[in-house]
Amino acid sequence: MTVTLVTGANRGIGLEVCRQLAARGHEVLLGARRPEAAEEAARRVGARPVRLDVTSEADIERAAAGIERLDVLVNNAAITYDTWQRAVTADLGVVREAAETNLYGAWRLTQALLPALRRSDHPRVVNVSSEAASLTNLGGGTPAYTVSKVALNALTRMLAAELRAEGVLVNAVCPGWVATDMGGPGGRPVADGAASVVWAATLPDDGPTGGFFRDGRPLPW
Ligand code: NDP
Repeated sequence: MTVTLVTGANRGIGLEVCRQLAARGHEVLLGARRPEAAEEAARRVGARPVRLDVTSEADIERAAAGIERLDVLVNNAAITYDTWQRAVTADLGVVREAAETNLYGAWRLTQALLPALRRSDHPRVVNVSSEAASLTNLGGGTPAYTVSKVALNALTRMLAAELRAEGVLVNAVCPGWVATDMGGPGGRPVADGAASVVWAATLPDDGPTGGFFRDGRPLPW
């Protein structure tokens, strides 16, 4: 059975990714920073709860120690869609805090889970990013968020290059503008945003690596 871990999965896109992958028969490990939230969400979608604050080294170590083999890692957890900010005046404390979750959280967790991913025959890493981080798009606010996601995109390319020979497919995915707590009202349905992520989580062995996609179509870096 395909074993998949999704971070930040107690609500929003992460929760729906868990639901869709569980429906496809994956054994889903639903990560959430609050244990009760993990348990409640996992019950709803038929997953296994994992207490996992991606900024906590202790949580990451504990989670990694409990996972023997991992087929798919979905780095979904993120914070601080700071639409009201501009780079010229941004609070760098907030910028650093966003990077702790959106970049270093994903990075640290991927490093910790590499041994488990290497035990898989079809390892995949999906970094949930945003088209806001496309270099063709910069300049429209959200400095903390955007810088963290640009760096996540860079990390995606580096990991993909370093792990290509081992058959680990690593891609960045934009779910589109989605009606979640982060996206607010007016975005597309959560099921559609999650499907964009599920596409990269279920790539065949000859699928792409080191790419940036939405709905299975390439986006410019
Ligand atoms: P939400 O704000 O709805 O959900 C974010 C999730 O991340 C929550 O479950 C939250 O948990 C969790 N989280 C935050 N910090 C941590 C942490 N330190 N450790 C573990 N979990 C954490 O966001 P979305 O579902 O909208 O976004 C999911 C992904 O999609 C993100 O990467 C986002 O950047 C990306 N995205 C979203 C877009 C949109 O329009 N919605 C557009 C483009 C990209 P808790 O409940 O505990 O706070």
